[in-house]
Amino acid sequence: MTELQQEKLVIIGGGPAGLTAAIYGARAGLAPIVLMGPEPGGQITISSEIENFPGFPEGINGFDLMQKMIEQVEKLNGRLVYEVVEQVRFAQKPYLIQTDGGQYQTETVIVSTGASPRKLGLLRERDLIGSGISYCATCDGAFFKEQVVAVVGGGDVALEEAYYLTKFCAKVYIIHRRDQFRGTQILIERVKNNPKIEILWDSEVKELLGENKLSGIIVENNRNGVQTELKDVRGLFIAIGYLPNTDLFKNELELSKKGYIVTDRKYMTNKEGIFAAGDVQDPDYRQIITSAGAGAAAAIEAGRYIDRLN
Ligand code: NAP
Repeated sequence: MTELQQEKLVIIGGGPAGLTAAIYGARAGLAPIVLMGPEPGGQITISSEIENFPGFPEGINGFDLMQKMIEQVEKLNGRLVYEVVEQVRFAQKPYLIQTDGGQYQTETVIVSTGASPRKLGLLRERDLIGSGISYCATCDGAFFKEQVVAVVGGGDVALEEAYYLTKFCAKVYIIHRRDQFRGTQILIERVKNNPKIEILWDSEVKELLGENKLSGIIVENNRNGVQTELKDVRGLFIAIGYLPNTDLFKNELELSKKGYIVTDRKYMTNKEGIFAAGDVQDPDYRQIITSAGAGAAAAIEAGRYIDRLN
């Protein structure tokens, strides 16, 4: 059994929210420790180029941006620990966190475990991420200038992404499994009236073509079983919803119907001293800058909470 480590502030998750919380926490003298989790750096490490993070007018690669955030935490003596949390016990204080490498006891926690885009579950879907498969048109759309792409989904995100992609791409298919969208009317009208968009109703992607790079897809009409090969599709944007990474907290913190951690305006959860920030708590914006902002605010609030305890 590993020794129980006493901590002032434990941050669970090392994406933009968690790392920014660590920067603020370290500068405030809270000696934060960040448990980096199964995907150190979070979702942005799979974004090839980020053009909407202020301060980088030439754009920055997602991995590089994360490295800079990590460097900044380390420079301020924040501790990054590459462990995965296996269990938390938040029923009473001090709170307990068990990882695959240690045990931590603390009065204050910031949960920033992020969200993961829902996957279609196709063979080689994961292998082709960054080589034709994307879960974020805002992040990757510009790499498909003048090319043919497809968006999967029928919600607001799929509709917005399809419309956004028409700014760069020669043609955009929307592949939806039913014969009507669930997105809002104004967005539906917008995509229906766009001559660059072709909607494939009652359709599902069945196969991804291409060795190391996507070079086409096979789509099946689920009413008549007819399969069509779309040979010219080079980018497939999967927009079928997000799943907040809250499995660990199901019996420990209040979650919304959609599974996001519920907080008040100061990022405090229903448990005193436990804060949540970023995609795990925010179903709406999901931007690096908004996650970082929430991480900063949560760390400031954590500092105020610790002051009140003392
Ligand atoms: P969503 O509204 O849940 O839509 C997900 C879409 O993906 C649905 O059309 C669903 O099909 C489809 N889908 C789910 N699983 C699938 C699968 N395995 N295979 C194929 N298709 C699948 O999710 P979202 O579009 O990410 O939006 C999330 C929330 O943010 C929504 O509440 C949305 O209104 C909100 N939002 C609002 C705005 C805005 O107001 N401007 C912008 C963005 C997001 P079915 O329709 O058949 O279920």
